Amino acid sequence: MFTAKGLFAQIPCPNREKCLIPRCMFSHDDRSKQLIADATATSNVSRMIDTDDGEQNGQRKRQKIGGQEESPLPKTGAPSTSIQKPTTTQKPEVVKVPSASIAKRPSALQRDISPPPLRRKSQNGTSAVAKPSGAAPATPQAKKPAPVKTPLKSEPLNPRARRTAPAVHNVRLKLLQALYDQYKRLNTELAKDANDAEEELVLSEQGVITRALNAEESACEQASIYSNVIKNKIMTYKRMTVAQWKEERAKEVAKEKAVEAAAISDTPTAKPTEPPKPIETGLSTEQEISILPRLYTPIDDLAKHGYVTTIPTPQEIETAKNGIEASKGWEVCDRCKSRFQVFPGRREEDGALASGGQCTYHFGKPYWKDRSTLDPKAKREKKWRCCEQNLGDSPGCTTAEHHVFKVTEVKRLAAVLNFEKTPENNDASLDRPVCIDGEMGYTVHGLELIRLTATTWPRGEELLDVLVRPVGEILDLNSRYSGIWPKDITSATPHLSTTVPPPPTSPQNIYIVPSPTHARALLFSLITPRTPIIGHGLENDLNATRFIHPTIIDTALLFPHKAGLPYRNGLKMLVHTHLGRHIQVVKEGTVTGHDSREDANAAGWLVRWEVGRVWERLRREGWVVRGGGVVGPRGEMIVDKMAGGEKEVVVGVGSKRGREEMEEGS
Ligand SMILES: [Zn+2]
Ligand SMILES: [Zn+2]
Ligand SMILES: [Zn+2]
Repeated sequence: MFTAKGLFAQIPCPNREKCLIPRCMFSHDDRSKQLIADATATSNVSRMIDTDDGEQNGQRKRQKIGGQEESPLPKTGAPSTSIQKPTTTQKPEVVKVPSASIAKRPSALQRDISPPPLRRKSQNGTSAVAKPSGAAPATPQAKKPAPVKTPLKSEPLNPRARRTAPAVHNVRLKLLQALYDQYKRLNTELAKDANDAEEELVLSEQGVITRALNAEESACEQASIYSNVIKNKIMTYKRMTVAQWKEERAKEVAKEKAVEAAAISDTPTAKPTEPPKPIETGLSTEQEISILPRLYTPIDDLAKHGYVTTIPTPQEIETAKNGIEASKGWEVCDRCKSRFQVFPGRREEDGALASGGQCTYHFGKPYWKDRSTLDPKAKREKKWRCCEQNLGDSPGCTTAEHHVFKVTEVKRLAAVLNFEKTPENNDASLDRPVCIDGEMGYTVHGLELIRLTATTWPRGEELLDVLVRPVGEILDLNSRYSGIWPKDITSATPHLSTTVPPPPTSPQNIYIVPSPTHARALLFSLITPRTPIIGHGLENDLNATRFIHPTIIDTALLFPHKAGLPYRNGLKMLVHTHLGRHIQVVKEGTVTGHDSREDANAAGWLVRWEVGRVWERLRREGWVVRGGGVVGPRGEMIVDKMAGGEKEVVVGVGSKRGREEMEEGS
């Protein structure tokens, strides 16, 4: 189980009426309670929120739909109102657990699904509501909840209140029901034979109701042709096949994900308006590669920038292991800063992976909101990009099942899996440059590699792209950022052989290797110590893959931030600034989060662009192309020190000078 969908729906929102979150995951019951109180005092309120038209009729109908005659309102002195009653969907969704696993570790699962006390309290408050006869059984979504999704507002199948309605209530209700019936039919049929990947397209019972309510409400906007609009809609869905419905749902789901992904990117997402401009260097592939040594990160600098350059010794690893043992698994949460305990291999008595319950946090970054033009003197506010709440106003807008942590200390990383140096490889063709990118997820051992991608440079062809089963039990795949979702891991085909599997042609047919060691071995079969490895913030990828490599082009170092370290330019920003291209753009129909392939290639584009700039300078100094390389006015050549060229150092040309030039130029 990766999510806590619905768990907070019963907990009062900490922001109460100040909350501005459109679909806040916390309960805003106090709003409706207030409404009920008002309604009890005077029935005028009900007239304001619903039209008088056919109210009596509608009320009776609604009772029938609800399947219950008993009014949930206080009986004494309560006039008849149109306050909506609790319905089938108000019951918290039930998480189904396979009985086999319950038998295996009962207390662990009890613990996993047991709600926080607050929820239990309000659950009792609504438990008097009898489950209506027509209630839907647990939906496929309840069985396997989508990760990090805000629960839908609980609403009955009853036209939404409007100040002016285009038709009397019972007409609206009838049309709404007819539309609902069609949605329900399509949704039920889709649910029947949805595969793992399609399950996210299946709506919950509330989802079907909400969709019908939205459609009916939007038809109300065209009051004069309301009934035509909605009747056409009903006909459309009556004729619709499940395949067409599936297609429509896929588009909707992609759009929802796009909205979510836009909230996490550091810059507002813009869609590319024109095709990307090609990067022109005026050089052949061979000549471009011959210039690359000018861009290498000097080996002496690697350690300064978080790269590991020596393999931790057995003694160091022993020390780290003793330290881990002594700390008894206590860590500080990377997101909410709580202290909590992790239990690698699960806690014996109950099978728990971590203590401290759920993690409530903001998944976006804080930013300074621009002053309103209406009130330029107003204080500037720092807000969370994820939810637009002010910093400090709430502990978080998102809840995950576990707290998480990351390890940066090298010997602790080595205690999980030790580093290895890129081994020799006899195939000299493997000296060609490679772009790599890894994605990481949180496990009981910290942040671990869960996907590894390698492409060729400069062409960007796929060499390797596999999911990786981490060493520790997964706490959180960090899906918003990694782009990897629980179903990607569960539905990937295991790859056990030591030959590199073909790259996936779609996200559905990616392979998963059983360990980071396996992923590293596949990568090692594609490179030599002389292979220039290109990437952005590569120390993260190398450390997660646990390998030490001497020949590095790190675009985070190649294009340093104006403010100097520790500030770094983001890949997305660099690609936009220098190349006018948009990456990590949310496209309909693609997964959210980083796409390793795109990230790896984007770093490669930046390197080509930089090669073009270096070549411009060299040309001004009198360099010319000759064969597969470039030569200086006095016959100088660019020396690849990594390829053993240090013996023939040529005056005036070297990686040190190259660095200086680059720094002043960027
Ligand atoms: Zn937030
Ligand atoms: Zn936390
Ligand atoms: Zn990435």
